Amino acid sequence: MPAFLKFPPAFKRIIFFSCLYFPVSCQVAYPQSSDLSGYSDVYGKIRGYIDTLEIIDTHEHLLNPALLRRTHILDFFLLLNHHYYNDLISAGMPASYFDTLFNGNISPLQKWKRIEPFWDNSFNTSFNRIAGIAARRLYGIRQINETTVERLSEKIREANFRNNWFDIILRDSCRIRYLIQDGENLGENRDYIKYVRRFTPWLNVRAKFTIDSLAMNQVEPIFTLEDFVKSMEREFVTGTEKGMAAVKIIVAYNRPLSIDEPDINSARRVFRRLTAGDEGLVITLNEAKPLQDYMFHKLMELAGKYHKPVAIHTGLLSGNGNNIRNSDPALLSNIFLKYNRVNFVLFHGSYPFGGELSAIVKNFPNVYIDMNWVYAISPSYSKRYLSEWLETVPVSKIMAFGGDYNIVENIYAEYFLAKQVISEVLAEKVMNGYFTSGEALKVARMILHDNAAGFYGLP
Ligand SMILES: [Zn+2]
Repeated sequence: MPAFLKFPPAFKRIIFFSCLYFPVSCQVAYPQSSDLSGYSDVYGKIRGYIDTLEIIDTHEHLLNPALLRRTHILDFFLLLNHHYYNDLISAGMPASYFDTLFNGNISPLQKWKRIEPFWDNSFNTSFNRIAGIAARRLYGIRQINETTVERLSEKIREANFRNNWFDIILRDSCRIRYLIQDGENLGENRDYIKYVRRFTPWLNVRAKFTIDSLAMNQVEPIFTLEDFVKSMEREFVTGTEKGMAAVKIIVAYNRPLSIDEPDINSARRVFRRLTAGDEGLVITLNEAKPLQDYMFHKLMELAGKYHKPVAIHTGLLSGNGNNIRNSDPALLSNIFLKYNRVNFVLFHGSYPFGGELSAIVKNFPNVYIDMNWVYAISPSYSKRYLSEWLETVPVSKIMAFGGDYNIVENIYAEYFLAKQVISEVLAEKVMNGYFTSGEALKVARMILHDNAAGFYGLP
């Protein structure tokens, strides 16, 4: 059992203070040895119940399995390719290694030799641990190292060439009833997979080229700002007809989430400048902001008109060298207030803005928490904030699982971690008298299934 899952050292304090608030359910100030075994019983009961639940996985970036088989990452590096790769870069690996690692036709051992010095500097991170859990639990490899990468690579290839590997992991092992995929690039139809759609070209527009390509793709000219808005609505309607579960917004990768209220004339001036410019014209973010903000409001109007929820990337930005201040969820307060009939969900537990997220979701009836990716970022953060959010926000507004991974192995590993964290949080809350065991099980079902089903309108 990993160290962070052991019985919490702060437990005595929790029991002591909880007595002040729960004098009936809590009779003792300090835990006796029977309390410790009581904790494992409660933990075991909750964990066992969660294992039986069908869940909704609210966010993934799965690669098309047929395409994956033709790549050069179908070796041990598959488990590291998404997210942990960024920790390797953070630990000093040159970005120029990308090509060799992702596209190079080299042996697993050669690949290992390349990353080993940076692995040694970063084996501690939770992104690394996710790979370890997948290797251990799915492939029977206890440790990823020089002596095991060849064998692990063989096993990964073998499994991923099985036709039903994808479904075995997602459906049978993780018991995923619905999975929400970011984008429609999976290439295979599965009725349990739903999609969200991004409108990034409209929201991040800064180049004449962007407007021209949208017009070409839709085979509809875009001459005026009104045409530009119409083209976004066309995309929206197409998405809705194809079953789009929600709008997905990732603008924080390029700009702050602060959206002003530009008047139509300032938006029009930017639009005209772009369309009248040379083919290669690209303007600065500051210059483009009135148009980008205007389009953001138009998208919110569409979400209201077509009753679609809006999922927003907040907090940690994947990759390296991003500006965390861009993705502070508090920047969006004016939007939550103005579009109070639109439901918003803030992704990634807004790491590291968990406290702000708590206050926002408590305040705004139309804003929800999604914990996808958070267990992989930090199990401790997940535990701390799930515990806090269960005390601060209505439980119906917490969605507790999505992997945010591109391969099924890492989704499995992250869900494994998530089940441990959720069980620990709930077991502690039963032990200190905050929840009854019946309430804890009800919370588990709500945060892993019912809330997401309701939010996304899944049958
Ligand atoms: Zn994502």
